[in-house]
Amino acid sequence: MSHAPLARFTAAAPLRAELAGWRRSGARVVLVPTMGALHAGHLALMERAKALGDRVVASIFVNPTQFGPNEDFSRYPRDTEADLALLAGAGVDAAYLPEVAGMYPEHFSTRIEVEGLTEGLCGAYRPGHFSGVATVVTKLLNQVQPDLALFGEKDFQQLLVIRRAVRDLDLPVEIQGVPTLREADGLALSSRNRYLDADARARAPRLHAVLARIAEGLSAGGDAARLLEEGRATLAAAGFDPVQYLDVRDAETLAPVERVARPARVLAAAYLGRTRLIDNVAVG
Ligand code: AMP
Repeated sequence: MSHAPLARFTAAAPLRAELAGWRRSGARVVLVPTMGALHAGHLALMERAKALGDRVVASIFVNPTQFGPNEDFSRYPRDTEADLALLAGAGVDAAYLPEVAGMYPEHFSTRIEVEGLTEGLCGAYRPGHFSGVATVVTKLLNQVQPDLALFGEKDFQQLLVIRRAVRDLDLPVEIQGVPTLREADGLALSSRNRYLDADARARAPRLHAVLARIAEGLSAGGDAARLLEEGRATLAAAGFDPVQYLDVRDAETLAPVERVARPARVLAAAYLGRTRLIDNVAVG
């Protein structure tokens, strides 16, 4: 299939016209939703998308409805020209950059609520966040109608919430998770890492180190409560304050886990200064 350079769309209708042409030629379309400020972790998703499909659409939308009133919506990093250059370099076919007024027209009044899965972990500290995510992702999936959409395991709860919404609402799309890309010292790549000053950047890899240690301890038959307590103490000593959660959960339902029998995940969210970091690792 011949590939034109990156096409850029700011509204759904012209994007869909382009997509209709691709579909007529039998192309398998992959969507990678992002909030921009792209880094190598996002590019790993683009690479996977290229490998799994014929045409790749990347969306960039800093979705206001998934940020709380005291969160970083207004200061979230935005660098559209750099993002577009990275997407072009990655061989992405189309960039979709919807406008807020297009996504949320006057009298917008519908929301997707995924119950249960969204109650704990990040959901407990970010009221409305996953409803905003599920709503905007449902809209993006309806607008683009991809065969496949990719999401990072970095945002593990988000991945499960989207899988569940897609299943519950019979959306005709396959959802795949992509493993977390990390810096050499273990820090998960994140757009928010650019908020970290040198001191915080030096401390940040402790988060992954603690998660990895707990996962290893659990695999070796260690006691979850003791491992988590040690982990919390290590994070506090490294300057993480507050540690919002550090927990072991079932990898499918996010239900609390005491003894690991089924696939499990260790997950954490903690602040370093004003920057909120999240990360998670698989057990076993
Ligand atoms: P964001 O722009 O932060 O909303 O992220 C867009 C997508 O990239 C989400 O599916 C994230 O989970 C994924 N992502 C972000 N960071 C990473 C990373 N370090 N490794 C893999 N995927 C990531």
